[in-house]
Amino acid sequence: MKRLILILLIVIGGIIMYSQDRKLNDLEKYVIENKGTEAPFTGEYVEHFEDGTYHCKKCGTELFDASDKFHSSCGWPSFDDALPGRVKEVPDKDGIRTEIVCANCGGHLGHVFRGEGYTDKNLRHCVNSVSMKFEERSKEAEAYFAGGCFWGVEYYLQKLDGVISTSVGFMGGHVVNPGYYEVVRGGTGHIETTKVVYNPNKITYEELTKYFFEIHDPTQLDRQGPDIGQQYRSVIFYSSEQEKRVAATLIQTLKNKGYDVVTKLEAAQAFYKAENYHQDYYQNKGSLPYCHSYKKKF
Ligand SMILES: [Zn+2]
Repeated sequence: MKRLILILLIVIGGIIMYSQDRKLNDLEKYVIENKGTEAPFTGEYVEHFEDGTYHCKKCGTELFDASDKFHSSCGWPSFDDALPGRVKEVPDKDGIRTEIVCANCGGHLGHVFRGEGYTDKNLRHCVNSVSMKFEERSKEAEAYFAGGCFWGVEYYLQKLDGVISTSVGFMGGHVVNPGYYEVVRGGTGHIETTKVVYNPNKITYEELTKYFFEIHDPTQLDRQGPDIGQQYRSVIFYSSEQEKRVAATLIQTLKNKGYDVVTKLEAAQAFYKAENYHQDYYQNKGSLPYCHSYKKKF
């Protein structure tokens, strides 16, 4: 009986593993499973130089990074490096060349050549386009804004197109991993801060920062609306000189418009996420912020 169960498990496991493999079309089968070669200059990735990673068509494993791809004029995608451990070299049946296969599923990729002098690494992974699937690198950047109660700041920032995710927490103080009430009591130096993860292709840091100035009152010192205290200061935590410049320019623009802006620019430090019940506070509650509202300023 035990033996029967074991055999059944192996069969089921095999079926699951098989179904995880993508179904291959005729050309893919010819190249990947029968070690064929696509015609030169016909593959979809020969002249493809987008930023991202190339995966095994059959099992999905990441194999090559676009940063290692180079122009070789040989008619097939060429990489002077593979991701560590992802590509296996085996002697080709022809007794001359070295074949490369996916280290995970054994799918045929192409061949590797050394000593041709194309790049500093002196290596060319010559890969069939049809053996790979390209995945564009997801572009993400982070920004940190503090402008009063973080419930309200997050509420507005998370609605913007191009914002991938937001979270609220604390930054700028000297206490490691503070709790909310520790910050409220004072003395931690921390400020209620919203972390914004965004796609810079869809929204720029400047657009985000402009919006931040429009959803809080940057002329209020050490408070925001009804919330009074150091932890409600208006601060932009910049992560680069570029961000600092963008924010400083916007502050100057507002000053030129007559706003007596007190917002400080400080270098980003460790961000400590607040307790779960503070995250997505208004979204979860289904109500509107008491502390913030939108007002066009630019
Ligand atoms: Zn594979």
